[in-house]
Amino acid sequence: NKKLYGQKKWLDFYEPEVVETLNYKHLIMPEFLDNTVAEFPGNIALIFQGYKMTYAELHEAVGRFAAALKQLGIKKGDSVAILLPNVIPCVVAYHAALKLGAVVVMNNPLYSDRELTHQFNDSNSKVLITLDLLAHRMVKLRKKTTVQKIVYTSIGDYLPFAKRLLFPLVAKKRGLVADVKPAKDLFKFKDLLSRHEPDHTMADIGFEDTAMYQYTGGTTGVSKGVVLTHANLSCQVQQLEAWFPHFQRGKEVILGALPFFHVFGMSTSMNFAIYMGLGNILVPKPRPDALLETITRFKPTFAPLVPTMYIGILNHPDLARSDLTSLKGCFSGSAPLPMDVINQFQDCTGSIIVEGYGLTETTPVTHVNPFHGKRKPGSIGLPITDVECRIVDMEKGDIDLPPGESGELLIRGPQVMKEYLNRPDETRKVLTADGWLHTGDVARMDDEGYFYIVDRIKDVVLSGGYNVYPREIEEVLYRHPDVVDAGCVGIPHETRGESIKAFLVLKKGAHLTPKEVIDFCKGKLATYKLPVAVEIREELPKSTVGKILKKDLKRE
Ligand code: AMP
Repeated sequence: NKKLYGQKKWLDFYEPEVVETLNYKHLIMPEFLDNTVAEFPGNIALIFQGYKMTYAELHEAVGRFAAALKQLGIKKGDSVAILLPNVIPCVVAYHAALKLGAVVVMNNPLYSDRELTHQFNDSNSKVLITLDLLAHRMVKLRKKTTVQKIVYTSIGDYLPFAKRLLFPLVAKKRGLVADVKPAKDLFKFKDLLSRHEPDHTMADIGFEDTAMYQYTGGTTGVSKGVVLTHANLSCQVQQLEAWFPHFQRGKEVILGALPFFHVFGMSTSMNFAIYMGLGNILVPKPRPDALLETITRFKPTFAPLVPTMYIGILNHPDLARSDLTSLKGCFSGSAPLPMDVINQFQDCTGSIIVEGYGLTETTPVTHVNPFHGKRKPGSIGLPITDVECRIVDMEKGDIDLPPGESGELLIRGPQVMKEYLNRPDETRKVLTADGWLHTGDVARMDDEGYFYIVDRIKDVVLSGGYNVYPREIEEVLYRHPDVVDAGCVGIPHETRGESIKAFLVLKKGAHLTPKEVIDFCKGKLATYKLPVAVEIREELPKSTVGKILKKDLKRE
């Protein structure tokens, strides 16, 4: 008689509007755009540096590119790799490939040749869509990979008229000129669009068919392809729709600043936004100044961002002259959001931040704080519609722990991946036969059913026989007014086995000695948790979605 800390237990705490369970519409991905264009053809779908594309135009471009991909030999089940920042062709290529029943493989443009070669080959990608600036490198790389054909696009392809005219000059000034011309098996995106009539025939795609291989874990070793089905992507957006009923179809405008090659940006900007008929502002380089300028100018109503972006905005000198009042709500996920950041951001913008949680393996969202209801700073909130959770003992495995105790978080729900591509052993390690996913995160649940991420299992430090969670120490460090960024890792210690080293980034002009930092922590943390070493840095190594790369800190 297994005790499940499933969502049903917490219905009392739910807002009345929140749906406990759903009857999912079996919509496949191409139907998202087809339905939205039927409902809101004239609505703005994408905004890129002032260039606007309506849903009707997006639908047409997707139809044309689907026809082009078909001619390049892509058929149902083939893999199409996309290596682009957040630009309009990224959204077009993504939906065109899905329309054909092909499998999309999103790639990070900052990846090295080694990482890309692995992902192209592992996924058996046949066609690659990339930027003109990367085209020569990709042509060389093609010889080592399964990629046969390359399509390139330019940042200047979709800009307002005046900017488009000036683009060659701007590109030259910034040294961003790409000397690339169409050749055999090398095609220009815009040429392909103009050469093909839109093809809107619906491929024979089943709800359980594979839609994507979404790579994860690249920062910790060889990345694995997470197999996500149309059902995973489709159920996730329907879960989010149910969880955020005040999100108005066809009305809201979201900020597309998270990289679309990461599951968080992909799911919010390319799936949820399109399904809901929202406007989507594309930000290819989400630096704090660009975020402030874009929000001020294009007035998004919702912004999904990651903690580093909130921290960057709050510490930027342009904040005082920016206007962030259009924002009704912001989401944060991917990494812990320090409580002070939530409070400061809310104070200075008036916009609520709701923190959520998820993984690539869960498409990604599984938990969020409610927008209109009890939000608990420091918590990842409640499991969303149809998500079941367990917290199990980390050593003994299959034993459920009561509220308040920390253990590994296990998740089951319709958005949980099918498997890891070609890695049955890895799949078996994380996914049980009855559908529970081991998240690898230590978490606890409080009496009201709210969850708290304590740390990653692999980041836990064992000091003098005690488990020390670096995140707890980071939270304390963030409370220091001069600290902008904090990351703690375990380092070898003669008597305790391991102890904590803190890496800090300070506010401009601030100065702190290691002793001052340790003194600040005294009284706020048990002695065995105090850092024994402190290093001040200009910046900390981070992934593109702002996760501190602890492995790199340990190595350095
Ligand atoms: P990824 O698959 O790259 O999206 O990484 C998933 C991991 O990010 C999770 O297993 C967590 O360790 C971490 N993560 C996501 N959201 C949060 C959050 N709100 N707080 C703390 N860690 C988070």
